[in-house]
Amino acid sequence: MKSSFLFCLLGTLITSSIFGQDYSKLGKLTKKEFNVYYSKGYESKATTIANRVHLAYQYYHQLLSFQPDVDVLVLNENDWARYSNQKLVYGMPHYDDKKTLIVAAHDNPFWKSFHPERSMEDFFELLALHELAHAFHMQAAIQLQRKWMAELYCNLLLHTYIAEKEPESLPALTTFPKMVIAAGTSEYPYTGLDELENNYEKIGREFPKNYGWYQSNWHAAAGKFYDEKGPLFAQKIWIACQQQPNRLADPAWKNWLRSNDLLPILKMMESWPDFGP
Ligand SMILES: [Zn+2]
Repeated sequence: MKSSFLFCLLGTLITSSIFGQDYSKLGKLTKKEFNVYYSKGYESKATTIANRVHLAYQYYHQLLSFQPDVDVLVLNENDWARYSNQKLVYGMPHYDDKKTLIVAAHDNPFWKSFHPERSMEDFFELLALHELAHAFHMQAAIQLQRKWMAELYCNLLLHTYIAEKEPESLPALTTFPKMVIAAGTSEYPYTGLDELENNYEKIGREFPKNYGWYQSNWHAAAGKFYDEKGPLFAQKIWIACQQQPNRLADPAWKNWLRSNDLLPILKMMESWPDFGP
C-alpha cells in the first residue's frame, strides 16, 4: 500500500529506504510501546515529545482498543533530509510509511512563516499526536472515506486528548488555527474540500501554507465537534467506520453520515469553510 500523511500526506513511499532504516547515529529513548530516535543535542526536546506521545498513545488505545507499532523521529534539518524521504519542507510533521512519525527538533522558517513576530513552535510540537493518530487509523485499516476526513479525524483525536488530559495546552492548540483562519483566504489558490481531495499531495508539497490553512480549519472543526459531542465522538466515528470498509461516493456517504448520527461532519461539509461559531 502506498501511503504517508503530511501534517500529513498520503503519498508514495519507497519502503526499502525506511524499513530497516539504520538509526544508530541518532540518540534513542525507549518507551513501553515505542522508541524515539533524535538528532544529537535534542534529548530534552525528544523527552518532552516522547512523554506526551506516550500519554496520548495510552489515551487513544483506551478510546479505540487498538495499539499500532510506531517509531518517533525528532530531527534537526540535516537529519530530516537524511531520514525522511518525503521531501517536505523542514518543520512539516508527517507520518512516513505505516510506522514512523517524523517531527522537527527545532524552530524553523516554516513555523515562523505564519506570523511576522512569533513562531508557532508550541503548536507544531503538539502535532506529533496528530501523526500518532494516523498510525492508529492506518494500521487498523479504518476507512475514513476521504483524505480530508483522515486529517480531520487526527485533529479530533489530538484535540480530544489535549482537552481531556492537558487542558492547560488548549490555547497552544487553538490559537494558531484561529489566527490563520482570521487572516482570510485571499493568498490561497485552493480552499474547497474537493479541491483538497483532488490535489492533496500537490498542495502539501508545493503550497505548505495553503495546506496549513486547511489544517487550521480541521483543527477548528475538531474543537467544535469535541465541544458539541464530547470525548466519545472520536470513538463513535471509529466504530462506525469499522463497519463501512468500502469507500462511498458522496450521496451514499452523506446518507451514511445521517444514518450513523454523525451529522456534525455533514454540516461541516455543507457549510465549508464557514462552519465555525
Ligand atoms: Zn495528517
